[in-house]
Amino acid sequence: MNNLNLKLQNSYTDLPEVFFTRISPTPVTSPEIVLFNDYLSESLNLSLTGVNKKDLAATLSGNLLPNNTNPISQAYAGHQFGHFSILGDGRAIVIGEHVTKCGKRFDIQFKGSGPTPYSRQGDGRATLSSMLREYLISEAMNALGIPTTRSLAVVSSGESVYRNKPLPGAILTRVASSHIRVGTFQYAAASGQINNLKALTNYTIKRHYPLLLESDYPALALLEEVSKRQAKLIAEWMGVGFIHGVMNTDNMTISGETIDYGPCAFLDKYDPSIAFSSIDHGKRYAFEKQAAIANWNLARFAESLLPLIDPDKDTALKLAENSVNQFRDFFESEWLRVMRKKMLIPDEKSDDPKLIWEFLEIMQSSGADYTNSFYALTNNRLDLISFSKNPNFINWHKKWQNRTNQNLLINEDSNEKSINPAYIPRNHKVEEALQAVEVNGNIEPFKRLLTVISNPYKIRDDFSEYLGPSEDGLVGYQTFCGT
Ligand code: AMP
Ligand code: MG
Repeated sequence: MNNLNLKLQNSYTDLPEVFFTRISPTPVTSPEIVLFNDYLSESLNLSLTGVNKKDLAATLSGNLLPNNTNPISQAYAGHQFGHFSILGDGRAIVIGEHVTKCGKRFDIQFKGSGPTPYSRQGDGRATLSSMLREYLISEAMNALGIPTTRSLAVVSSGESVYRNKPLPGAILTRVASSHIRVGTFQYAAASGQINNLKALTNYTIKRHYPLLLESDYPALALLEEVSKRQAKLIAEWMGVGFIHGVMNTDNMTISGETIDYGPCAFLDKYDPSIAFSSIDHGKRYAFEKQAAIANWNLARFAESLLPLIDPDKDTALKLAENSVNQFRDFFESEWLRVMRKKMLIPDEKSDDPKLIWEFLEIMQSSGADYTNSFYALTNNRLDLISFSKNPNFINWHKKWQNRTNQNLLINEDSNEKSINPAYIPRNHKVEEALQAVEVNGNIEPFKRLLTVISNPYKIRDDFSEYLGPSEDGLVGYQTFCGT
């Protein structure tokens, strides 16, 4: 067995030691590559392509680490469904940071790699099915042009993980531009040591927002930039009907990437009040609440930063409050940008929100499919719109035709490529593919689904069964944290 030649760095360990624990993955019995993302590996200039599967499996399970690696688990805190806890990577280990040829830095993290000091009651492990789900949805988000952590590989461990019953275990290799979360700042603030907070803030600015190094008010400037990135991110989610499902502050990155694909799912029929997660009883993280929740999370971020915003408490509070209150405007303008693009509206007019909301309302009252309705509208396929005979829609459509740039109406490839997807990871298809793996050990349906969602904009004849919601509408569909 060969140690792979990955030259990983460890800038995170320059932070004070409270922020991490040095720990190695716990080896597993018989690791085997289930999926390896060649394309991602190449694009990051990781020298892994062509390595034999046995060596890859040994490395990406954590059994045989590359030379000179200094793995860590990160400490953080977080508000989970509104309740504050001290957390940390309970089942994840960052093996190091990879820097690409263009100088972009990424964490390489194993998820499901064994217990850490932050595991609490957990076993530090992950099921194959939940890691495949993360792989699939994160790659779908990337193909849809939405900032996200990526998935490099899934390795089965050959061991069972107990979740009511024994299930096959696996390790996911996650690539992220960092794992710094709102919760990491909450953790720094909770440590009560301003030096920890200063160190984390400086590190974060250097790593993600280097232009702010010159700012006279770096903490406030950081708050504003994170707010803008989150506004953009949530608007993009709304554009494709994505529901994260567990927007706890520990699952909100400072980089603006989507992270932690537990109980997430995509809308089928347009019902903004939908929350799929089985544990989200109060629908805290429903589709329509995501912007308000991001705003709430940013308020927690702002609270953590207060001592660095201004030495005078009242001034700091006032500045932070003003900044957090800007989020609503940031989000509104990002959402309009996303929706104008989805509707081929070429410029900005004050009546646009009305036009957009009218379409959404007709869609909602008809119980129509979110993805398909937009695709049909902008691809000249009114025959595919289930409410095309509705008089309200006929009126609306005339207004819309006058407002849009009809030259953009799609037939030619250029627009179809990047406006409204034809394919999203349909809930019933995701479940079907994961069942095939779990019950029959058959990965083929999963791989086919991965092919479909990796190229979401262009309809292909041989993938017609991936185009719509399930026939029974998957009534009462629920997702599980599925650890
Ligand atoms: P999540 O809901 O996935 O964001 O996880 C919340 C917290 O629970 C994090 O601190 C995780 O590391 C921890 N956690 C989740 N699953 C496990 C597990 N199987 N073993 C140990 N810790 C876990
Ligand atoms: Mg998490």
